[in-house]
Amino acid sequence: MSENRLHIDWTACDGRGLCAELLNEILIEDEWGYPLARSGETAPTVPEPLRKNARRAVDRCPALALRLVNS
Ligand code: SF4
Repeated sequence: MSENRLHIDWTACDGRGLCAELLNEILIEDEWGYPLARSGETAPTVPEPLRKNARRAVDRCPALALRLVNS
């Protein structure tokens, strides 16, 4: 099974918005810089063509607040 959803741990996130910049096809920043899914999903689906970008966002999150998970 592929890891096709992006899980965001808002308790760990420090809201600097880096992930929304790296993955702006999927995420937007709210007014405080916290990521929100454009789709409105809690753990947004990551289409195959965006997985590499999603992994990059996971690796670069300074708060280790992002994970790719199986749906
Ligand atoms: S990169 Fe990590 S800490 Fe920064 S806004 Fe995204 S989830 Fe939060």
